[in-house]
Amino acid sequence: MKLVRYAANDSTHVGILEGSEVLQTDFADLLELIGAGADERTLRAQASRTPLSDVRILAPIAAPGKILFCGINYRSHKEEAPNAVLPSEPFFFSKLPSAVIGPGEAVVCPTPETQLDYEVELAIVIGREAKLVRRENALDHVFGYTVVNDVSARDVQFKDNQITLGKGFDTFCPMGPAIVTADQIPDPQQLRLSTRVNGETRQSASTDEQLFPLAFLLEWLSRYVTLRPGDIVSTGTPAGVGLFRQPPTFLQPGDEVEVEVDAVGILRNPIVAGW
Ligand code: MG
Repeated sequence: MKLVRYAANDSTHVGILEGSEVLQTDFADLLELIGAGADERTLRAQASRTPLSDVRILAPIAAPGKILFCGINYRSHKEEAPNAVLPSEPFFFSKLPSAVIGPGEAVVCPTPETQLDYEVELAIVIGREAKLVRRENALDHVFGYTVVNDVSARDVQFKDNQITLGKGFDTFCPMGPAIVTADQIPDPQQLRLSTRVNGETRQSASTDEQLFPLAFLLEWLSRYVTLRPGDIVSTGTPAGVGLFRQPPTFLQPGDEVEVEVDAVGILRNPIVAGW
């Protein structure tokens, strides 16, 4: 099922997305739903239908406990980055939870000088606590998948060894629109992902190009960090980012960015000026 969090009539709900309708569940929060382990049949039994046009879709999880992003994880992105070396193990950084926004919400470019860039990524939503998991059963800890845009201020990212700030400005973590439950994605290493800016394709690749597959990332991370339900682990971006175009092409106010992962969803966000 495709689960969404949405606002309707001044309240927030979790629903099942089905065509042009949302089936409203008794849950207001996806973390509660994950924790309750509610199955699809039970959720459907309690649901009432609302037209999608009457609701505003929000980020699926408002403030994840952890948002961990894998750096260089696609061969093509490593090859387009002049100073990147092929990593022998995964590299992670965290995004600030305050950066999360939902579909349709504006990404704010804070100054005219900001080198604002996009990165389409497939993100894992953790469903069951994961500590010292082995890759063979790592995906058993996955609740589902969503789409994120790893928005970056390249000028700030490369001034800061931690890269926390350049990746963590307000609005720099568009997420959604839905979480697709893991049972709907039999092989997450065979998903096409793409980015369009004002309709022009900028990124297009498959998750089979990943240097470290999802199960390996979870095994590696869970050696050091306990992953909890609702935590987000994003799995890297392929070639085609604005920074490495010739000449570099950054996002501008007025642009619209669309990031898509097949079978997971399309996430659209406008860019606005913050000055
Ligand atoms: Mg990234």
